[in-house]
Amino acid sequence: MTACTFTLAWIGECGREDCTVHANLKCSCCGAPATHECEETFGGNLCGAFLCGDCEHQLTADGTNAPALMHCRKSDQTHTPWWKRQETA
Ligand SMILES: [Zn+2]
Ligand SMILES: [Zn+2]
Ligand SMILES: [Zn+2]
Repeated sequence: MTACTFTLAWIGECGREDCTVHANLKCSCCGAPATHECEETFGGNLCGAFLCGDCEHQLTADGTNAPALMHCRKSDQTHTPWWKRQETA
């Protein structure tokens, strides 16, 4: 019995034992096993794309989430979220 560690956006870990729903999900970006749902939102709508630990929502130049639902490897993320910029300013 293994508790599912897949992280649902806004909810947290699934936690179901022997969960079949999340066992075979693939990252929508790179195809690796997905570990979580994308938590970015667009006008109140959750992105919800399946992502692995190495991918994240691609940001636009102004630091907001891209309307095209693009995702990229974390190492390829070229922009800083607007809220992170404010923190460090
Ligand atoms: Zn699950
Ligand atoms: Zn990925
Ligand atoms: Zn996303």
